[in-house]
Amino acid sequence: MFSRKKEKGEKEKRLAEQRADLRNRKVYIPQMNYAGPRALAALLRSVGIDADVSPDDTPDVIALAERYLTGDECLPEKVTLGGFLKVLMQEGVDPKKVAFFMPTASGPCRFGQYRVLIKKILTDLGYGDVLLLSPSSYDGYKGIAEAATELIRTAWWAIVSTDILTKMLHRTRPYEIHKGDTDEVFEKGVQMICDVFEKRLPLKQKFHLLRETMIQVRDMFRAIPAKYEPGRPLIGVVGEIFCRMNVLSNQDLIRKVEELGGECWMSDVSEWIWYTNRETIKRLIDAGKRFSIDMLKEKIKNKIQRRDEHLLLEPFKEDLRGYEEPEDINILLKLGLPYLPVDGALGEMVLSVGKAVYLYEKGADGIIDISPFTCMNGIASEAVYPHLSRDHDNIPIKNFYFDGTPVDLERDLGIFMELVRNYQRRKRKKRVYPKCFGVD
Ligand code: SF4
Repeated sequence: MFSRKKEKGEKEKRLAEQRADLRNRKVYIPQMNYAGPRALAALLRSVGIDADVSPDDTPDVIALAERYLTGDECLPEKVTLGGFLKVLMQEGVDPKKVAFFMPTASGPCRFGQYRVLIKKILTDLGYGDVLLLSPSSYDGYKGIAEAATELIRTAWWAIVSTDILTKMLHRTRPYEIHKGDTDEVFEKGVQMICDVFEKRLPLKQKFHLLRETMIQVRDMFRAIPAKYEPGRPLIGVVGEIFCRMNVLSNQDLIRKVEELGGECWMSDVSEWIWYTNRETIKRLIDAGKRFSIDMLKEKIKNKIQRRDEHLLLEPFKEDLRGYEEPEDINILLKLGLPYLPVDGALGEMVLSVGKAVYLYEKGADGIIDISPFTCMNGIASEAVYPHLSRDHDNIPIKNFYFDGTPVDLERDLGIFMELVRNYQRRKRKKRVYPKCFGVD
């Protein structure tokens, strides 16, 4: 009894030391996409941690990272390491005052190795005092902040709200009359919700304020002068999460599709969270914990997350009509089952394949899969896409791979869009349009 108490006391002391150490540092978060990392930085600031996004959004970071890598690493690693090095190479930066947000994972994907690799490279370069912050569920995230449960809940709000704004961006921009209006509203909207996340407020009040702010941003999107006309090809964008979201990695592919007359529906971050929640439940069942406290906690968390998601999405019902995501991640996994075994082939590949079928059913005119060069996710899904396409009226599906070397995207996208237009003329699945299109 005494030793358990002592153990608990030591753990608490260690976590308090971690938190104190973090408060003396500035945390940099890699910019997987524009909105999410900014919202996360604001949330960290709300609990007293200095945080900002990493400067990894310019092409020079790739060349910088390549100096220290072997060439076997995938593109997300290059972009992330390059951004971190860019911070450390600024004049006067003290590594003891810097922390990098670097999530990690177990499993066969190279991602699990990157934390170790980055630590080694930084140490070899004399930056061994830098802290790599890898939030861990093992300590209930208490190593970051005492209010860890609150942080987990608000991080989910950040994911959902930034997903919604990103969807609004992609849904509106192709139809804007004045070039640049939608980007401007999007960036302003992201700043507005970040201001909410940064505030230290009771949870209920914060959620209320976030929802009100989201409604204001929705109205800003609605006010953008735009010519909503049906007929633009709708392209579903799936693939590896970092590369599909990171415009530096994918050479801003979505904007190029728009310039060629298309509109994109990109798989969002929440989809990945729902998938990892499902995997957690599966792991508990496999460990014989179907009826356990851990399972109960997981189920409650899922229920709360779903409710919060509904509440944030509800004001956008008319605006995002036709772009609804599946109510349950198992729907996607079931759709992909004829092509990939869900519990044998893990990760984004099962989501990409299932989502491709889902997007076909929703009336998409083509599918693009974005992956880093040599990523197993793209390779596995590319192998089954011809079969999937044949089973679904030969909907055009194209894989794009990126390794940081500029490629002639316009040429390949131009050919793809021709195929898309041919498919669009003969397709059997009609799409549903948002209310602003004036078609029912
Ligand atoms: S999913 Fe692919 S690109 Fe991403 S870390 Fe793993 S191997 Fe690399």
